[in-house]
Amino acid sequence: MTPPGSSQAAETEHFDDLYWESRSEPIVEDDAFLEEIVAGAELPVLLAALAAALRDTTFLHPDLRPPLTPMDTTPHPHGGMTAEQREKAALLALAGLQELRDKQVTTVDMLPDAAVRDILGYLTGGREEWFGMLTHELDIAPTKGGRPAWQFDEVARGRDFSALIVGAGVAGIAAAHRYAQAGIPYVLVEAGETIGGTWAKNTYPGVRLDTPTFGYSYSFAQRGDWPHQFAQGGEILDYLRDVARRAGVVDRIEFRTRLVRLRWVEEERLWEATTRTADGGEQVRRFSAVVSALGQLDRPNIPEIAGSEKYRGMTMHSQEWDHDVDLAGKSVAVVGTGASAYQIVPAIMDQVGSLIVFQRSAPWMLPAPTYHHTVSAAFTWLRRKVPHYAQWFRLWVILTGIEGRAHTVVAQEDWPGAPLSCSPANQELREFLVSRIAPQFDDDPDLLQRVIPNYPPGAKRMLRDNGVWAAALKSEKTTLVTAGIERFTENGFVDASGQEHDVDVVVFATGFKPSDYLDEVEVVGRDGREIHAFWDGDARAYNGITVPGFPNFFLIYGPNVGGTVAGSLHFMLERAVEYSLSAIHELLRRGVAALDVRPEALDRFVEWVDEGNRTKAWGQPYARTWYQNKNGRVSQLWPYTNIEYWDITDSVNDDDYEFLE
Ligand code: NAP
Repeated sequence: MTPPGSSQAAETEHFDDLYWESRSEPIVEDDAFLEEIVAGAELPVLLAALAAALRDTTFLHPDLRPPLTPMDTTPHPHGGMTAEQREKAALLALAGLQELRDKQVTTVDMLPDAAVRDILGYLTGGREEWFGMLTHELDIAPTKGGRPAWQFDEVARGRDFSALIVGAGVAGIAAAHRYAQAGIPYVLVEAGETIGGTWAKNTYPGVRLDTPTFGYSYSFAQRGDWPHQFAQGGEILDYLRDVARRAGVVDRIEFRTRLVRLRWVEEERLWEATTRTADGGEQVRRFSAVVSALGQLDRPNIPEIAGSEKYRGMTMHSQEWDHDVDLAGKSVAVVGTGASAYQIVPAIMDQVGSLIVFQRSAPWMLPAPTYHHTVSAAFTWLRRKVPHYAQWFRLWVILTGIEGRAHTVVAQEDWPGAPLSCSPANQELREFLVSRIAPQFDDDPDLLQRVIPNYPPGAKRMLRDNGVWAAALKSEKTTLVTAGIERFTENGFVDASGQEHDVDVVVFATGFKPSDYLDEVEVVGRDGREIHAFWDGDARAYNGITVPGFPNFFLIYGPNVGGTVAGSLHFMLERAVEYSLSAIHELLRRGVAALDVRPEALDRFVEWVDEGNRTKAWGQPYARTWYQNKNGRVSQLWPYTNIEYWDITDSVNDDDYEFLE
């Protein structure tokens, strides 16, 4: 147990969790109340939490292991436990809550390794190959990965070494925190005025997560008191700011400072970085290593439409929402029906006078009746009263997301249902989703025909359906146009059928240019190689992190590591940060200046991810998605699970790198 009198800071340090709470509130409620709580609990999570808090493996009875039935759309409650299992688990959980109450247990301490294995064995149904990755996410595991196990001063005291971290978004905050923990001097530059990256920029009406909140946080900042099941944009931004403050990162950021040029100085084995401030002033500095935490979904894609110079109304991209524009009573056009549009449209319905939605392809949506809901009252009680319940729940969301819905998007060669589906399982999913769409449009068969997607579910990002999208499209105010936009006029658009639409405001919810990695930065590596020339529109990086010819240059959340039907984004980017630190540790330990990934290693990696992506819905030749770049290669997505990424980023393989003295 935590030593009495130890400071919160020391405990946080002990647990590698900036949100560590040393005590939960004592349980004072009666048995009837506890029974109700159990009925609202996720049983495997509660049993795991009880086993940890009471140090009692009887809560992990083998007969009550959740089967982890693969999810087609949304997670199966209790991991797919049978009714009989649920009944027995509920009785056990009730006994556990009573014991917590009667013994007044309000803390949980670091678990012994054996207990970690017992609990993970229970939760995963014995999948030992998952334990390493899951332990990375478990802040009461003594072998939790993540925090550097070494200190710069111990390895290279006196050596002149510093890193440049670029971008103060989700990835940059993680990098700065871990580099500080390793004692590596760093400078963090951010082009914007504030922390938070995409969550600071995207403030459009309705912005919120389209994946569960509890899978969307750092392993080192396991906030438990999230208000919503799918967090609102502002809540995530507050979290990021709070994490940065707790980690001591905020004070070290140079805001309004954009990286414009990087040049490798071979004789000195250093990067020369040119940054530009908002007033145009340039500064040139040298760094031993550069960590790019620049986002992919950052550069707005605004379609070139003939006559745009003629249009006299207002236009804005979803990421550049102008909150001074009053939409009240206006006629508004929203171009696009993707992840941003499906949040904007229902959110502005009440204000606008009329709405035109330009749809090029209809979106697939997963049923999510509680999409706008707060977390349940039972969850809130459990979070407050059962030590670590929220953190076990977070682990559970990540665990069940390891395989996620991946099995539904595996494409079968020569599948006759293509291009509408890509395999029997995918066809089944298609039929299920259509059966959920149809009743929402049963009074408008024509509209129904136009909102059923004509590509396989999963080939593009799937959105969440709680009925508000259908309601917005069916509103008397709304016109859904599928004819495409021909040209702008002074007052609006002409669509491809020749119909004219007058609008006051045009919202381009048309996405980004994700393949243009590092678009605005010139990066000149060894032998004068420029990174964009090397990539030629096809960004490639070994493990999504290192690029041959660019020593000590690390991309966080780089090419081919994105997820869409499975996996945790934070896990992927944290692992890239940790890998970059392992690489730096290796060169400090060897006393060498730099390391440069070998081209063969990159080729091998690309071949492997391409092979995986070719077998997925989004990798089919008939799929048109932003996951593919101009060559048609899927350069955005990681086709495997978090476990494979855990394995390949476990250590820096000597054979993959050239070490420069
Ligand atoms: P998006 O998903 O790429 O959607 C862009 C939309 O614009 C699509 O419907 C696309 O049609 C349409 N479009 C593009 N160019 C067009 C053109 N020239 N004419 C007509 N329509 C055009 O972009 P997004 O909605 O901004 O989302 C991008 C990504 O950001 C998401 O996939 C997700 O990863 C992330 N995101 C996440 C959240 C969240 O978690 N809450 C929210 C928003 C965004 P096609 O489908 O036919 O290409």
